[in-house]
Amino acid sequence: MSDAVHKLSFEPFGEAESAPVPTGREYPVDQPDTPWLESLHRLEILDTEPEERLDAIVRMAAAQMHADLASIDFVDIHRVWSKSIWNSRLFHPQLRQFPRENSFAEQIVQTGAMLLVPDMQADHRPHGFYRPDAVLQMRFFAGVPIQCSNGITLGALCLAGAEPRAALTQEEILALENLASLITDQLELRSLRAVTQNPITQNQATEARSPDVQRTTTALAASEVWPTPEELQFALDREQFVLFYQPEVEIATGRIVGLEALIRWKHPRRGLLAPQNFIPHAEENGMILPIGDWGLAHACRQLQTWKKDRPWLESLRVCVNLSARQFTRHGLADQIESLLSSTGLRAHHLGLEMTESTLIPSIGTTVSVLNSLQRLGVSLHMDDFGTGYSSLSHLHRFPFDVLKVDRSFVKRMTMGTQPLQIVKTILELARVLGMDVVAEGIETEEQRALLHKLGCRFGQGYLFSPPLPADALEQLLESPETRIGFTTKDVSPLSIS
Ligand code: C2E
Ligand code: MG
Ligand code: MG
Repeated sequence: MSDAVHKLSFEPFGEAESAPVPTGREYPVDQPDTPWLESLHRLEILDTEPEERLDAIVRMAAAQMHADLASIDFVDIHRVWSKSIWNSRLFHPQLRQFPRENSFAEQIVQTGAMLLVPDMQADHRPHGFYRPDAVLQMRFFAGVPIQCSNGITLGALCLAGAEPRAALTQEEILALENLASLITDQLELRSLRAVTQNPITQNQATEARSPDVQRTTTALAASEVWPTPEELQFALDREQFVLFYQPEVEIATGRIVGLEALIRWKHPRRGLLAPQNFIPHAEENGMILPIGDWGLAHACRQLQTWKKDRPWLESLRVCVNLSARQFTRHGLADQIESLLSSTGLRAHHLGLEMTESTLIPSIGTTVSVLNSLQRLGVSLHMDDFGTGYSSLSHLHRFPFDVLKVDRSFVKRMTMGTQPLQIVKTILELARVLGMDVVAEGIETEEQRALLHKLGCRFGQGYLFSPPLPADALEQLLESPETRIGFTTKDVSPLSIS
């Protein structure tokens, strides 16, 4: 066994303070000599930085169960490694790693079964501890196993509360198991990425950045300190946020059919900032609600202004990205309805874009919110399709009008038969479900022509236009043609078989 030691220290996400996080004592590195350890090493899940997608799952679990503390914990020979921790400000400092001996996580990994302790003080069975840094304050604990796709239990999704609870309902247990299976999906994606060496990630910051913001943000990326809520509020008050608009076009003709509103921050010192630099943090601290309200209202007003005196824009719609907090806020449909009536925009002129991670885990609530938005008549778009947690299994349950194929698929489509087959399958799925398709990230004529040939009607990407500030975009709308020129090697659309 190597005598190398782990010395990494990462900060917890969520509302925790930014004080350095102790990782606990130092532990020997275990050699991967069993399938279980091999899986942990192959997945590179230990001693690595927190990740937004796993953090999002922990956050959802905590919210769903009204827990005070939640974590994703992996267990190796000597220790528990907390990949992701969420707390409600009560418990500081937090440990990234602690001894596995007698821990709840160890018990869950050993039995591969759920562990539930409604009241630790009243429970006289021999049991260990959830986290050494929280043991005194905790009364309630629930943990479900996290397995990798070959069924080996690697760790646990754990929740704890400062108050005792009644035993969980069947529905709550199911919700927890669903969340743990989302983690399994994420682990599966990691191993696929490792195999293909060609990651499909939704938020690869540099790749996602448009040319307009790439230059100004690259230098910041390494040392970026997230803005505080106060800074975001200040920026909102000073009107430092702006919307850029990227056309969505009919692939065959270049006719503009829609505009996607994409937020930027005109920071007085840092320059033009991409959404990745501030939206995740605004989602975290709740500032996404006022920022999102501003974006929705601004986009609706802007389209209404453009439509005035330009009858040829009658069918043009503007699409706005909704984050999870906006989506789950009570009364979303009423809010949209009153926004439409105050701006005078008709419902079908507004599109709302949501990624799959916005919609889970509460499928029932999601369907009812989506139905109420659908009744209003706004167009519902599933964004970044294919990068979500379990896209295919959920899609048919949601009343989406448009499916936006993630640009990672468009990018790889021309590189081999397998990626091409994936795009064909997505197009076929959309056809069966009666949805329109917008292919994202079209950068080359080759991609455009191929998508056209496959019967994909709509697209968006730098080939047609990057996101533009309102005044530059307005010039594209001046002509009743509203077409974007590009070199066409015209190909008739084929049916997909
Ligand atoms: P998204 O909704 O998937 O938006 C498309 C992103 O792809 C945009 O990045 C756009 O600039 C970029 N893009 C467009 N065409 C191409 C292309 O041909 N190649 C490549 N490589 N990229 C292309 P952007 O503007 O940086 O936005 C990133 C993400 O930030 C958006 O992804 C969306 O999820 C989020 N976002 C943007 N504005 C808002 C907002 O107002 N509210 C919320 N909640 N999220 C927003
Ligand atoms: Mg979008
Ligand atoms: Mg997208």
